[in-house]
Amino acid sequence: MAGRLRAQSWWFPAAAGVLALVCLLSRSLAFQTVTYVVVAVMAVPIVAISIRRKTVTTPLGLGMIGLIGCSAASTIVRAKTPGGFGGSDAAEVLSLVSMLMLVGGVAVVAHNRRGRNFWGLLADGGIVALGSWLFAWVTLVRPSLDRAGSDQSLTIFRSAFEPLGSIVIFLLIIVLFSDTERTKSVVYFSGAVGLAIVSGVLRALHDSGHMGNNSAVATCTSLVAVGMLYGAILDPSVETLFERQPDGPSRPLLGRIVATTAALLVPIIVMSATTPKDGSDRLVRTLSVGILASFVTLRIMQALRSNRTAQEELLHVAQTDSLTGLPNRILLLEHINATLRESWKGELHPTLFFIDLDRFKNINDSLGHAAGDSVLCTIADRLRLTVPARTTVARISGDEYVVLDPASPSLEAAMELAHQLLVQFREPLPLPAGDVFVTASIGVARSEPQSHRSADVLLRHADTAMYQAKDAGRNCVALFDETMHERVAHRLTVETALFRALDRRELRMYHQPILEMTTGDVVGFEALMRWQQGDGTIVSPAEFIPIAEETGTIIPIGAWALNEALNQLRSWCDDGVCSPTANMSVNVSPRQLADPSFPSVVQEALLSSRVSPHQLWLEVTEGIMITEPELALATLRRLRSLGVRVALDDFGTGYSSLSLLQKFPLQRIKIDRAFVQGVADNSNDRALVRTIIAMALSLGLDMVAEGVETVQQLQVLSELGCTKAQGYLISHPLPPDAMRSTVAALERMGAWPGVGRSREPVLVPEPELAG
Ligand code: C2E
Ligand code: MG
Ligand code: MG
Repeated sequence: MAGRLRAQSWWFPAAAGVLALVCLLSRSLAFQTVTYVVVAVMAVPIVAISIRRKTVTTPLGLGMIGLIGCSAASTIVRAKTPGGFGGSDAAEVLSLVSMLMLVGGVAVVAHNRRGRNFWGLLADGGIVALGSWLFAWVTLVRPSLDRAGSDQSLTIFRSAFEPLGSIVIFLLIIVLFSDTERTKSVVYFSGAVGLAIVSGVLRALHDSGHMGNNSAVATCTSLVAVGMLYGAILDPSVETLFERQPDGPSRPLLGRIVATTAALLVPIIVMSATTPKDGSDRLVRTLSVGILASFVTLRIMQALRSNRTAQEELLHVAQTDSLTGLPNRILLLEHINATLRESWKGELHPTLFFIDLDRFKNINDSLGHAAGDSVLCTIADRLRLTVPARTTVARISGDEYVVLDPASPSLEAAMELAHQLLVQFREPLPLPAGDVFVTASIGVARSEPQSHRSADVLLRHADTAMYQAKDAGRNCVALFDETMHERVAHRLTVETALFRALDRRELRMYHQPILEMTTGDVVGFEALMRWQQGDGTIVSPAEFIPIAEETGTIIPIGAWALNEALNQLRSWCDDGVCSPTANMSVNVSPRQLADPSFPSVVQEALLSSRVSPHQLWLEVTEGIMITEPELALATLRRLRSLGVRVALDDFGTGYSSLSLLQKFPLQRIKIDRAFVQGVADNSNDRALVRTIIAMALSLGLDMVAEGVETVQQLQVLSELGCTKAQGYLISHPLPPDAMRSTVAALERMGAWPGVGRSREPVLVPEPELAG
């Protein structure tokens, strides 16, 4: 049954309309009354269904039954009262109660929908009600008092209350529904309340003798109103009736202004156009105007207060980070400025701790932004709980927090607090996908008492110190000192100059031979970039490659390096400098590997240099395989499909080199210099290198030992089973034109002592770059 009722909610207003028409035509008071009562009784099952469906709350449902019941009872009482102007005290009381319930019901709906705007609306409703009371007093009530004679109180009651209540409801309807989506329920409900008002007004007119002796129109209007109410609560869209509407400026504002202004103007005009009939008339007018004036004053005060609250809220929003609720950069700068001003008075050392999360982007990229947000909130909470009460914790951008200690007692205390903050990151951060760990780099800047520093400068110093902490390997604390500025300035110069290095032809490729240990043959070269700046300064790749990586310049210069190295190999092979099967190793940075066009760059370089893909080794580090394993795997597979081979550079220095060998298509490892250096004298290093070699052999991987500097190292490596080597012992990285003689010299001498045929080492130093 419920389903059918839901589907046919429009039947109720329609059926009520038809019934009302029949009642009007019948002209029988008894028929009209019985019909209305029967329709009213239906409220009980209909409300029960709605309560069961949870579309209407029990109190509201009971209120509806009460309202319809009172209205029906008053209709019965009126019908029983013979002739005259509509009824008895009992009927009036019942009408009054039902009108009050209607006001209450609409108020409940208004409150649900409007929240805090509700009181403003109610106050506007009050002003309109008072205005209309004054109007009704002058035009309706006062004249009917003369006519009703003895029963004056009843007349005031009867004639004034209903229009008054109606105006309140009318106003609520305007402000409630003119700004919403008009669902069927909203339309039916508005119609129901509107018709109840009309019915109330008709009854008032009837009771005050303006409509003769016929109350049928009022009853029939009530009947349709009840039918519409049933339709409203049975329609599936009933939830929209009680939905909370968004705050903010809404269209009915103009309607409210017009209604309240009219409510003030109309009675004033009417009162000034008429003169008080007697003393009591004057008293009622004066009292009413007084109450109206106080109401308006209250309303103005309320508007001013809500305006101030809105301003405070706006200010709060503008100064607060919406995710963590911490102060944002604007508020932080205000706090710092206030603290710096205060520090003039005493021996205070305002101190800033600039906290930047290390590699936070990885969390966002791999686990999604929701996980990132959750990490940021957890960190905000931890920081808040760690710092002393006098401090301010702010979040100034994505993964940057700042702690301001307005009165750090000493430098030691400041550094201790910094370390406490760092310790907070040791605990895992719980996420639905599992625990994650994040480290942070912290820069500390202290202001001397009575220094002239501004908030901006202090913040910049802390920021500079934080970058220093990052450069020092992250997950540490750095204290600002003036020399840091120079380093920052230098870095900025490098950054800017690097952008133009390629165009200015300041980049060169050097090459370092790779030796087959048993034969002493040069089987390949590693291409290493050199940057000779305009003024002759040589910048080490260890310095500029990370900057190029960070700024993205690595993409064009990396592509250039690849082309240059392959063309070089082509010409060496063609000129007989090296064996035609010699290969070239080119370093590839994580950013290049993450670039989707990288495989095609490689393919084009191979095609244009006519070098076989098997002669190219790409040297990658583990970075991207850990941060973006899927992307790395896809790119490496595409490279493999070209026939290019991939070496894992600096093997052993990373975190998870072993697992990478399993997961990614890698064909060579390059044993890092750090282990090679100790392989001859340090048993631990030797044991480690032995394990690495054994593992590479068992996985069928090719291997190259990097940074070999002594014959002993070479011998031990050979004993342990390593097959290829590279290092200053064999040759420094060299410019192209020095390679022919170096390769010839190396190959003339064959294998190394203790490795193959005995001979004296040839040390070829890295030449100065031509100025
Ligand atoms: P890497 O790929 O591990 O290169 C080996 C580094 O060790 C080179 O430093 C090389 O000169 C140095 N080296 C070689 N033998 C010895 C030795 O016996 N003793 C010592 N102490 N060092 C030795 P370099 O040329 O300064 O390059 C540093 C790093 O810069 C490279 O490490 C590589 O990661 C990066 N890099 C160099 N060129 C490029 C490039 O074209 N592209 C990219 N993405 N990175 C490059
Ligand atoms: Mg390398
Ligand atoms: Mg290396």
